[in-house]
Amino acid sequence: MSQTSSLASARGATKATELNAKASADFAAKLIETQALLKRATTEFTPVTQASSLGAEDVVITHIINSLHLDIPVFVLETGALHTETLALLERTEANSRTHINVLRPAHEAVIQFVRQEGQDAIYKSMELRKACCNIRKMEPLARALKGQRAWITGLRREQSNARAEVPLIDTSEEATKQLTKLNPLANWTWGDVWHYIATHNVDYNPLHDQFFPSIGCAPCTRAISLGEDFRAGRWWWEDETAKECGLHVKSK
Ligand code: SF4
Repeated sequence: MSQTSSLASARGATKATELNAKASADFAAKLIETQALLKRATTEFTPVTQASSLGAEDVVITHIINSLHLDIPVFVLETGALHTETLALLERTEANSRTHINVLRPAHEAVIQFVRQEGQDAIYKSMELRKACCNIRKMEPLARALKGQRAWITGLRREQSNARAEVPLIDTSEEATKQLTKLNPLANWTWGDVWHYIATHNVDYNPLHDQFFPSIGCAPCTRAISLGEDFRAGRWWWEDETAKECGLHVKSK
């Protein structure tokens, strides 16, 4: 059974932890691999920062960073269009995290001008307008967050989508163009591993995961998924499957 069909078929259950927590046989080895990579990040890849969407994978990584007392700040892109549940989790994370949480917001004027010119529903009218919104609300703040960094840490996993099936633990493919290494400490984890960690360590997570949102982004662009749907089917669902990235993890040509 696929990760999402097992999730969606358990409609009677409420907690994402109850639905999904199922460690792989080699989970202990994966956790050691993840911890080792995060420790290496603080010696071989500084300055380094974690990009967090506050999704399930990212709260796990931040929890490990905090548990190991690693000097890795975390940044969150507060796009101005997040769910109230995500904003509440951000507030709790800022209050409870040992490591620094850096919140980046889009340029106010750029957002106002885009909405004034293109309208409130522009993102649904064309892929160009949707990407223009992502550029203003995500890509420009991301560039600010990564300025001066040697590496960044993401929650990408191979299992998440076909486009991510080859994700390596250490991605050096953009060092030449962007002078940045991308570290993916959960590359080998399954969805069950992620939730096993959350359940075992009682990690605070976004309650939208309890409502069948496996992948959580901005409110206008995220919906719950249902039986048989792909893991990222709830993101930009009105567009082609091949376009389901906002630009954060799109490779340079
Ligand atoms: S995900 Fe949607 S609302 Fe968020 S920046 Fe992209 S187009 Fe805009």
